[in-house]
Amino acid sequence: MMPTTDGPGFVATEHALWRPYAQMKTTPPALPVVSAEGVRLTLADGRQLIDGVSSWWTVCHGYRHPHIIDAVKRQLDAVPHVMLGGLTHDPAERLATRLAALAPGDLNHVFFSESGSVSVEIAMKIAVQSFINRGERGRTRFLAFRGGYHGDTLATMSVCDPEEGMHALFAGAIARQVIADLPVDADRIDSLAVLLSEQADTLAGVVVEPLVQGAGGMRFHDAATLQALRNLSDQHGLPLIFDEIMTGFGRLGTLFAAEKAGVTPDIMTVSKALTGGTLPLAATIASTRLFETFWGEDPGRALMHGPTYMGNPAACAAANASLDLFEREPRLAQVHAIEAMFAALLPEARALPGVVDVRWQGAIGVIEMESLPELEILKASFVDAGVWVRPFNTIIYLMPPYVISAEDLEHLIRTTLRVTEAWARRHFSRV
Ligand SMILES: *Cc1c(COP(=O)(O)O)cnc(C)c1O
Repeated sequence: MMPTTDGPGFVATEHALWRPYAQMKTTPPALPVVSAEGVRLTLADGRQLIDGVSSWWTVCHGYRHPHIIDAVKRQLDAVPHVMLGGLTHDPAERLATRLAALAPGDLNHVFFSESGSVSVEIAMKIAVQSFINRGERGRTRFLAFRGGYHGDTLATMSVCDPEEGMHALFAGAIARQVIADLPVDADRIDSLAVLLSEQADTLAGVVVEPLVQGAGGMRFHDAATLQALRNLSDQHGLPLIFDEIMTGFGRLGTLFAAEKAGVTPDIMTVSKALTGGTLPLAATIASTRLFETFWGEDPGRALMHGPTYMGNPAACAAANASLDLFEREPRLAQVHAIEAMFAALLPEARALPGVVDVRWQGAIGVIEMESLPELEILKASFVDAGVWVRPFNTIIYLMPPYVISAEDLEHLIRTTLRVTEAWARRHFSRV
């Protein structure tokens, strides 16, 4: 590669690593991490940070839990990877069986992939092809919701919130879906019913994050909203897809949000905490009723998908070990303890200038601000205070690993409150 300084005004060789969601010119240098243990990250300069966001919500058992590390090491010594076309292996077979048993209702059939976005795309393909396989053409669109987030690939962007998902910027490149308000009250249920009676015969499914819309702003809704979606989907024969990539594996205090809400979808997607934050893996779990629409003698009815690394043995070994930990260790009780500590300490933030709302559910604590001016300075102040907290949009939030000790959690929350207070007084105090 030729280094160049003319034209663009940067040295190309210094920017080989293109960073996520970053304006490469202005983004501050990333902090090099050299080791991680429990809830702590150690930086190259020796500083330690308590991870308040579980590495994008994945590391539910803390970093390097010995049970997961052992399982992955043993699997690497046996078979690190093998294709799933025509071959199989115990870690994938066992994981599929266990996920099918844990998932609610008749969600019995598990299709593996390597990222959350892809697992949602697969859910959308299953929904579309299930209609084609029943001889019903023309059902290609999806109903999705404002405030939703389902991934960054082109198809998943189309079911994200229109603004956050940049529907206008990418118009023409992404499919046009039906985007509505979540039916959180009687009026909105009525308008959604009307919308569906007009459009349902062009739809292949309904996509929603159950109980918490995550990356769209940590917005909560209740079980009644999901029950309304369940009823409307049933009335129109539409598969209901729960994207549990964030909520799955205990984040809300039950293994799945579906369980907490008492509403069973037709397809569920999981990823983030599936391997305990160890290796990339995702799963799309479909009902027997949908699986049956692919069943038969005709090869043309088969699900036409197959990611190269699907069901990677080392990743499946990590996921099996992670499920062992949910069985052996008091993970859900730990989530309830985190929720109680949020309830005790977070309300203090309500008195701060610029705070619009304070809320918590399970191991998610949220301080919503009017806005987040000088966001990079706020982020740097958290690091200076020894915590890894990543505010976005108008949200300062905490989603720690479930294993965090009471002492560390109290320190994390109090530090977050203190940093937020100093920054909020600078930006929002009116004299
Ligand atoms: C993170 C996330 C995704 C996307 O997962 P990736 O692994 O980043 O592709 C999709 N849906 C939800 C609800 C998520 O939180």
